[in-house]
Amino acid sequence: EDQELRSIGKRKAVTKDGRHVPVFANIGSPEEVDEALSYGAEGVGLFRTEFLFMKRSAPPSEDEQVEAYRKVLEGMGDKKVVIRTLDFGADKQVSYLPTKKEENPALGLRAIRLCLTHKEMFITQLRALGRASVFGNLRIMIPMVSRLDEIIQTKELFEYVRMDLRKEGIAVRDSIPFGIMVETPAAAVLSAELAEHVDFFSIGTNDLTQYVLAADRMNEDVASWYDVENPAVMSLIRQTVANAKARSITVSICGEAAGNPVLAEKFLRMGVDELSMSSALIPQAKRAICGLNLKGNA
Ligand code: PEP
Ligand code: MG
Repeated sequence: EDQELRSIGKRKAVTKDGRHVPVFANIGSPEEVDEALSYGAEGVGLFRTEFLFMKRSAPPSEDEQVEAYRKVLEGMGDKKVVIRTLDFGADKQVSYLPTKKEENPALGLRAIRLCLTHKEMFITQLRALGRASVFGNLRIMIPMVSRLDEIIQTKELFEYVRMDLRKEGIAVRDSIPFGIMVETPAAAVLSAELAEHVDFFSIGTNDLTQYVLAADRMNEDVASWYDVENPAVMSLIRQTVANAKARSITVSICGEAAGNPVLAEKFLRMGVDELSMSSALIPQAKRAICGLNLKGNA
């Protein structure tokens, strides 16, 4: 069984009606690249970079970050690698940031909000990403977007970083696709407008479910309210996918729900292009996709 699944993992996932659905891995460190490839990942759909920053007394230096990103990019060859900028806050805290204790950390100064507030650390990460861009097929993605200006500010900051690197004689890839996580209700509601400013969307169903239903993803007492299949959540996912399609940008799902074959089918029928999940789930996801006929009725 395990052998059989692994060999399925090696193949591409093509539906009975001939649609190739790229299946990517979610990773948290360069050490996971080999595992991802052995399970049949066609790229990295989500590299959660905050794990490089945790369990240490100071952030990794620019050079250390370049090495980490380079390992992932080179390990994946010409396959897509989506590197997500820092997503600190809520359940992921570090000691060296000047953050205050918050009453509602999930609603607090986290992820892109924190990065744009304490820019030094963000600039270091963007420089490292710029420097690493020449080693592979890099895409940059920002988490927890809730307003258009976060996208505009981040793109501007990256252009400054690019100019600085150029002045220092350091090569940066010309056009690095830039995308966002759609994981707040605001981003989903505004997805038609946001799609005009980015190259791709990746829907983070873990946080989107939590925020749409006001149900903490970590709190077992509200686990029955925390339901990605709730029509309110599915409706926002459907709108987001439709708005991405209307602007011809790529849309993927990178939350846990992507690894659930029943939900994955629903997402693919909505028009989702790609799925990203824990490596170990890739073979069974590919097997399920190969059994689908997306032209037929559900
Ligand atoms: C998500 O929110 O769905 C997601 C993929 O990101 P994370 O689980 O890291 O918050
Ligand atoms: Mg998230």
